Amino acid sequence: MQPIAYGKQHITDQDIQAVIDTLKSDFLTQGPKIKEFEDAFANYVGSKYAVAVANGTAALHLCALALDVKPGQKVITTPITFAASANCVRYCGGTVEFVDIDPHTFLIDIEKVKALIAREPAGTFSGIIAVDFAGKPVQLEALKELATNHGLWIIEDACHAPGGSFVDRHGATQKCGNGAFADLAIFSFHPVKHIATGEGGMITTNDQALFEKLIELRTHGITRNQQQFVNDVNFACGGEVIEPGKYPGWYMEMQTLGYNYRITDFQAALGLSQLSRANEGLMRRKYLAKKYDEAFNGHPFVKSQLNELTPDSSSHAYHLYVILAQRRHALYSFLRSHQIFCQIHYIPVHLMPYYRGLGWRPGDMPQAERYYTECLSLPMYPTLTDEEQKFVINKINEFYLHS
Ligand SMILES: *Cc1c(COP(=O)(O)O)cnc(C)c1O
Repeated sequence: MQPIAYGKQHITDQDIQAVIDTLKSDFLTQGPKIKEFEDAFANYVGSKYAVAVANGTAALHLCALALDVKPGQKVITTPITFAASANCVRYCGGTVEFVDIDPHTFLIDIEKVKALIAREPAGTFSGIIAVDFAGKPVQLEALKELATNHGLWIIEDACHAPGGSFVDRHGATQKCGNGAFADLAIFSFHPVKHIATGEGGMITTNDQALFEKLIELRTHGITRNQQQFVNDVNFACGGEVIEPGKYPGWYMEMQTLGYNYRITDFQAALGLSQLSRANEGLMRRKYLAKKYDEAFNGHPFVKSQLNELTPDSSSHAYHLYVILAQRRHALYSFLRSHQIFCQIHYIPVHLMPYYRGLGWRPGDMPQAERYYTECLSLPMYPTLTDEEQKFVINKINEFYLHS
């Protein structure tokens, strides 16, 4: 048996050929593959616009910049997420306000968000970063109602949930990242995620103004759109005006402080190729989840959400399959000794030394902290074979039988 990780990319010959073709083309970066990938991705999640960027963290940073997060502003997020969901607020000098999770969904508890907002004076918070943790979609319709009532924006961190969806109160399916409720959504193409480009990320939105801001911020705050130019045409032409009102071909303006957060064309080509298999991968993840559900249904030592066995209206995308396990550390070590490399998602972000330094303490988020004592992410990726999954389940059962 080969070592089994918790997550793993799947690169096919078609993927490799797509990268080679792009390497042989005229563009390694800023070429046509990026727009192609953006259009295909927007189509996949059902958003109007998509902006491909260097990674998921850059995507979050650009979102915070586009929404004008500033020092003194407070932004709400969950402690059970990758640190970047919170850090993007800090990059802009804002303050992170963690809100505890719902112990049943492991997602930010919308009731607690409501209570927090009600407790503080109006205008205390600027926005909410909601995370579709493990691939389970946040009920954004309810969150949006709350956000609208209090003038807050929403960023959906959908890194775990490409292809996930929930059903709104009109019975319509709302795909993660479709921009119907969140102002902006972000995705990552790190190898453990559904779609791999090495490093890479995507922002999706239905808001044209935000889209245009993101495009500018992605490339140094530079615009080449004549309609937006600030400096006068005489300056731009160097005094040598050839045609009245016409800016020279070379002219561009850096209007705001932006970054180089671009993705390359060969990464975009890989992303496009991977995206063409996204549904296949998602189906396999659901299949594996159902098998895990069956294995842990009624298990005396392991609790799982059993999403496929007891479905609610949402469609889980299964970036992760999380169990709550008794004697979790011993189980983790036992599985490692059998070459099964599980992971923990996540160590609560508010208890990272950096956030403790900002005043957060144990006991602040009791549900998240309790969750952390038992959570374990089992192997979950499309190329995990039935045989490998059975091996994982058998080893878990063996652990509890003999210890
Ligand atoms: C992976 C991930 C990110 C960051 O993405 P990178 O591409 O690694 O920068 C942000 N949020 C969540 C929830 C993630 O899983």
